[in-house]
Amino acid sequence: MSAGGGRRPQTRGRGRASRRSQDLPGLPRDGLRIVPLGGLGEIGRNMTVFEYAGRLLIVDCGVLFPEEHQPGVDVILPDFSWLRDRLDKVDAIVLTHGHEDHIGGVPYLLRERADIPVVGSRLTLAFLEAKLKEHGITPVTVKVSEDDRRTFGPFDCEFIAVNHSIPDGLAVAIRTAAGLVLHTGDFKMDQFPLDGRVTDLRAFARLGQEGVDLFLVDSTNAEVPGFTVSEGELSPAIETVFRTTPGRVIVSSFASHVHRIQQVLDAARDHGRKVAFVGRSMVRNMGIAADLGYLDIPQGLVIDLKQLERRPANQIALICTGSQGEPLAALSRMANRDHPIRVTEGDTVLLASSLIPGNENAIYRVINELTRWGANVVHKGNAKVHVSGHASAGELAYCYNIVQPSSVLPVHGEWRHLRANADIAIRTGVDPKRALIAHDGAVIDLVDGQAKITGSVPAGLVYVDAMTVGGATEESLHVRRTLAEEGVITVVCIVDPDTGKLTEEPDYLAHGFEHAPGDFAKATPAIQKALTTANKENIEDIEQIEELVRQAMSNWAYRQTRRSPLIIPVIVDA
Ligand SMILES: [Zn+2]
Repeated sequence: MSAGGGRRPQTRGRGRASRRSQDLPGLPRDGLRIVPLGGLGEIGRNMTVFEYAGRLLIVDCGVLFPEEHQPGVDVILPDFSWLRDRLDKVDAIVLTHGHEDHIGGVPYLLRERADIPVVGSRLTLAFLEAKLKEHGITPVTVKVSEDDRRTFGPFDCEFIAVNHSIPDGLAVAIRTAAGLVLHTGDFKMDQFPLDGRVTDLRAFARLGQEGVDLFLVDSTNAEVPGFTVSEGELSPAIETVFRTTPGRVIVSSFASHVHRIQQVLDAARDHGRKVAFVGRSMVRNMGIAADLGYLDIPQGLVIDLKQLERRPANQIALICTGSQGEPLAALSRMANRDHPIRVTEGDTVLLASSLIPGNENAIYRVINELTRWGANVVHKGNAKVHVSGHASAGELAYCYNIVQPSSVLPVHGEWRHLRANADIAIRTGVDPKRALIAHDGAVIDLVDGQAKITGSVPAGLVYVDAMTVGGATEESLHVRRTLAEEGVITVVCIVDPDTGKLTEEPDYLAHGFEHAPGDFAKATPAIQKALTTANKENIEDIEQIEELVRQAMSNWAYRQTRRSPLIIPVIVDA
């Protein structure tokens, strides 16, 4: 008997990740190789590897969050397989800022080589170290700030202040004998940021003057016309919520959006409300941001949740996680009445965040539930409570005109964003042949000041689920989706191996069907026919016999139910 036979989910191999790299051309002396392993053709898991004179520098190592068609997946990593046998050649990982899609993959990379120096700004490293602690990893870190210039192996790196939706972001200029490369990281050009730290266009101009050979530019908002408005423009809407809410104010935002949370804290202070942070990552990150001086918490404003609950509702503000409808985060649990905080009539819930594509259904579900409990829900769709963290088309055009790069590689975006970003570069005078639209795994060589795509390396999706890294494959996800949408039928056949005849009626075990068990017995003639064929053709391999039974059962199920369930045939010799 071959239990659980049939189309076994592949547990080894890695689907797309197993694509073999084509033979790469040799990298000429004084050539710089740039290999984006993530973030091109998708929003997330940003990672770029630079190779010069046999040494490697990594910029960012983030995660991508799964969509509904990737059930059971926690996060998705870049594929490290091209790096794996050359990890000893990595001189540093430079982190541009502390968002998950830029730092979330670091614990998994450090598991493969723990002592790679991790370079970043103060807040970025603090967020990273808190995350690594949960993985039991103590990293080797190198703290840098804007205007610093440091050398890692052959890579001469200069750090430049950029403004984004998390404080302390850095762009990085990388100098080698191959030329000067400028990587923006995530950025925008808010001219009135709350911390006064603007994107350093003077440095961009100076580098432009020196001659930027390749400019890697954030594409996230390249399709959005005009300019991203200032963070401070949200304050009237936040102020209105605090002024007009008779009950509690419950604000949900990203646990890294220090400036947004600063605005909420200021409004709470102005309106005589005390505040508690709710949700593990919110409590942790705001503690770090306050300790390091990035968040200014007025004395006595933030108190313990238990103490806060004793106060009248109109003196209460809560700042919690869950703005993307994440099922386990505080806000979703409040919406589901699965949290000690009971949202009720008179409360306002303020979703001070973006609505990340793919999360819409979950977010609207949360909004509907909260509304059902009587709360007034204020969100991006009905008030000005969110601005983007990324440069829009107008800002990108400014950047190109200031930097005047010879070649451009749009990064951080889906194809449409990369295309739109390249088009902006071309409109500012970049040679269309030098505006490179590349996919994850593309190999770009910068030689004699000319950047060209010369090959590719594996860059498939590596799934992390509860138990494994890279264990789940496209095929196993296909099986999970089939189980969810089409159901499963197990058919156990006891067969006389000499005659190929069923010795009794097969057992049919079905899930996800409304049919009575007896209904499936109508499939028996088709199954017997498959077994007879196998016997006539002297097929003895049990897997081949099971495959014939699976096909017969599958065809029958489709004819009868118009569905394609997962079929698990089990053949037992009589
Ligand atoms: Zn970011």
